[in-house]
Amino acid sequence: MKCQLWLPVFAVILCLQIPLFAGEKYNDHFTGDRLRFDFLFTGNKEEIHVFPVQLKMEPYWSGPEEIKADPSGCGNFRYQVWEDSSGELLFSRGFSSLFQEWQTTAEAAKMERAFYQALFFPFPKNEVTLKLEFRDKKGIFQPLYETKIDPKNYFILKETPMEAESLSIEKNGQAEKNVDLVFIADGYTPEEKAKYYDDVKRLTEEFFKVEPYSQNRKRFNVTAVFTPSEESGVDIPGEHLYKNTALNSTYYTFNVARYLTTSDMLSVYDAVSGVPWDFLVVLVNTERYGGGGVFNQFTVCSSGNELSPKVLVHELGHSFAGLADEYYSSEVAYEEFYPLGTEPWEPNITTLVSFDTKWKDLLTAGVPIPTPRTPEYSKVTGVFEGGGYMAKGIFSPAQDCRMKSNVTNKFCAVCSAAIQNAIDWYSK
Ligand SMILES: [Zn+2]
Repeated sequence: MKCQLWLPVFAVILCLQIPLFAGEKYNDHFTGDRLRFDFLFTGNKEEIHVFPVQLKMEPYWSGPEEIKADPSGCGNFRYQVWEDSSGELLFSRGFSSLFQEWQTTAEAAKMERAFYQALFFPFPKNEVTLKLEFRDKKGIFQPLYETKIDPKNYFILKETPMEAESLSIEKNGQAEKNVDLVFIADGYTPEEKAKYYDDVKRLTEEFFKVEPYSQNRKRFNVTAVFTPSEESGVDIPGEHLYKNTALNSTYYTFNVARYLTTSDMLSVYDAVSGVPWDFLVVLVNTERYGGGGVFNQFTVCSSGNELSPKVLVHELGHSFAGLADEYYSSEVAYEEFYPLGTEPWEPNITTLVSFDTKWKDLLTAGVPIPTPRTPEYSKVTGVFEGGGYMAKGIFSPAQDCRMKSNVTNKFCAVCSAAIQNAIDWYSK
């Protein structure tokens, strides 16, 4: 659910990759379309395998053109696109995966499973090598898979994209110069289309009440894609309730009642193959509490719960800025999600192994490390023990934050800065 960081200036210098095209143009290397590489992540607690499924050409690349390298350094995985003829790195992006989350559950010690996934990057003009890496337990990227891609290969599918009906909720400029947030409907029947659009408009208004999104509203485009479902609602396996829906969202992910996700990424990606998008929100038609967010993958959120606006903002914190959960006392399915001997890549938690790369520059002189969870320090940025599902050994920047509880609707200073950096990058 859950990025390194964007935070302190010195840390940015450490993890920022050199801009790739000094003096060169995006158009020299890319067509303006999007290349999609679908594959299966398979394996168990210890093993990861990659099995390619298909390559597709889609009409829009909506990411930023100016910088091809993701400066965040976030994600449990990273993929890079290298141009074969020049040897240049054209593109680099981090992401996380439900598969990697599953690897930390008890089930992964007993069996193997497969998770559908896709990687997206600008469609290259020349032959490239796609390299996929995973982060080892020490936080170091290791090679996982690579393949050569010839853009002239006639097995790259150039199908007409699925024509899903969509409504522009908010348009503030060109896709490549704005953050393109796209909602997709799940569990809404054709008769519930108007309700879906109303739900998206209501949640969009609530989302833009929260800083730093409020002050950056003009840098977002919001689109609602309507994918009708046969039945209204969502699967709740723990209560033996099943619904036939367009995107197969489900509660009880990894046996956690509130954890709402979908593994049907083929349906999700096909639904948005004809629209520009940077970030996807699967909006599920139910009043039940819950959601999920995976970095650079998706946010899933129920639409009708009174806490839905807060859940949406929290889960987008994971998927948009790679933020970690700052809570440490709720039930989760993970075991040893963060090795205590390694500095996690997420910007808003630390094991103190390498705190210099985190929010040290945001601490006021005199604030002790660790910082006591006492009223005296309730409003300051500190280093409070507890976070990342662990009461001991992992530290977070504030006593409360949108990434910790549903009490506050505000992000702490560290999370705010990470979100601002993500907005700045995607709206360059
Ligand atoms: Zn925070």
